Amino acid sequence: MTRVIYPGSFDPITKGHMNIIEQASNIFDEVVVAVLQNSLKKEGLFTLKERLEIIKEIYKDINNVKVITGSGAVVDIALLHNCKVIVRGLRNSSDYNSEVTLRQFNKDMSNNKINTICLFADTEYQFISSSAIKEVWKLDKDISKYVHPIVEEKMLIKKRGL
Ligand code: ADP
Repeated sequence: MTRVIYPGSFDPITKGHMNIIEQASNIFDEVVVAVLQNSLKKEGLFTLKERLEIIKEIYKDINNVKVITGSGAVVDIALLHNCKVIVRGLRNSSDYNSEVTLRQFNKDMSNNKINTICLFADTEYQFISSSAIKEVWKLDKDISKYVHPIVEEKMLIKKRGL
């Protein structure tokens, strides 16, 4: 059984992330989506707990997608959940450049126990990023094309300050 981990900030999860999760869940037996705090990014729009709950709700009926959170190095979280492969999504050459570096650090930090597989975003998702969606949302424009309806609803609630 091949269980892979898909780590990210997911603040919020977009249809681009979902495209990668769908591809991974069709290839591997189980996909563990790991919602993590990026130490280089300041406090996000959603708390870690909120992001975790949103993604759990979206995938509640999909048997081979599990959603977890954790702290520390991704490789340690991966090993804790019996994953030897990290999945990452590639949109463009700048994603490639950062992923190739990350992959080597993760391989080194895990003493070669963890490798990384990159999946390509389908064309229609290549321009989507969590930060761009937050910009569109701040301008009160429609984000329904880019996120799951659950995310859209939670973002509306955030805006109203409820
Ligand atoms: P991080 O903060 O670690 O970059 P993100 O939540 O931004 O985490 O992204 C997690 C992973 O998903 C990364 O591999 C990123 O390249 C990928 N990703 C982000 N947006 C998309 C998208 N629209 N299509 C495909 N992959 C994406």
